[in-house]
Amino acid sequence: MEIVDVLIVGKGPAGLSAAIYTSRAGLNTLILGCAPKVAGDYDIDNYFGFPETISGKELIELGQKQAQKFGAKIRCEKVLSIYQQEDGLFKVKTEKGEILAKAIILATGVSRIKPGIKNLSDYEGKGVSYCVSCDGFFYRNKKVMVLGEGIFAANQAIELKEYTPHVKICTQNKKITMTEEFKERLKKLDIPVIEKKIDYLEGKDFLERVVYSDGEKEEVDGLFVAMGEASSLDFAYTLGITRRGVFIEADAEQKTNVPGVFAAGDCVGRFLQISVAVGEGAIAARSAINYVKGLDRNS
Ligand SMILES: Cc1cc2nc3c(=O)[nH]c(=O)nc-3n(C[C@H](O)[C@H](O)[C@H](O)COP(=O)(O)OP(=O)(O)OC[C@H]3O[C@@H](n4cnc5c(N)ncnc54)[C@H](O)[C@@H]3O)c2cc1C
Repeated sequence: MEIVDVLIVGKGPAGLSAAIYTSRAGLNTLILGCAPKVAGDYDIDNYFGFPETISGKELIELGQKQAQKFGAKIRCEKVLSIYQQEDGLFKVKTEKGEILAKAIILATGVSRIKPGIKNLSDYEGKGVSYCVSCDGFFYRNKKVMVLGEGIFAANQAIELKEYTPHVKICTQNKKITMTEEFKERLKKLDIPVIEKKIDYLEGKDFLERVVYSDGEKEEVDGLFVAMGEASSLDFAYTLGITRRGVFIEADAEQKTNVPGVFAAGDCVGRFLQISVAVGEGAIAARSAINYVKGLDRNS
């Protein structure tokens, strides 16, 4: 299996800035991420050093070139989940395979999609979950549903099959974006994909059923939210990282509460600006460098 010193999730300003530092320090660095939202035809007027403005696209391309110049590898590949092994290494599951990393820098920005279910929050912890590896165990042989339209949802549903045979996916009326490979895997595992919208949830103390917008009801014990792509928040659930609303907690050195996992940029939620993401990326990199060098000294 591929093993790297530092795996950075996100190719935005925070991830690229971090990679410049970690690769310059000689660490084997891999960035997994595709073009961030800001890498379009937007004028960036407030980033230091560009009095004539620069487009987001150009800024990201320059950052990418700079990180690659120092040896960082960059791949447009979606991360589905991250777990820490008993030996301390992080196993990163992507749409294409698995990679081991000594340290992780989360730089995924914020992209949590609201599912649009009226009373969803009333059932959080009472049937509604955001993490299969945390809560799947509680739904052994029960009826569960995963909410989502992409490979993140497909992967969560496949993981749930380890706990129960009764797994379905509901796309919440969104266009299905999962690849043919994942569609095939769902078919083989007998996981149906329902293209409907859940309007609200019902149940006395715990979730008992979902009510679709056409009025139809379906008995469900557990609803796992996995819309869009996996975010830092989803990785935080599985790794046990402290969260603050939709953001994850990091200290002044960009360390999370899990040794070896660092976070930078919009996913930390301080001031959602490029300059801040770049600065936090640099700090996260310094912390990751110290962490990996410490591991190497002790091994
Ligand atoms: C249209 C627009 C215009 C803006 N204009 C300005 C401006 O003028 N000035 C300014 O300072 N700020 C501006 N901002 C804000 C700025 O873009 C953000 O603060 C900054 O990009 C945050 O950087 P980041 O690296 O934290 O996250 P992002 O730039 O959001 O990058 C996130 C990265 O994570 C990747 N990712 C997410 N999930 C996964 C996953 N599961 N697997 C793999 N990769 C993943 C994405 O593909 C992406 O590469 C603008 C934002 C937008 C959207």
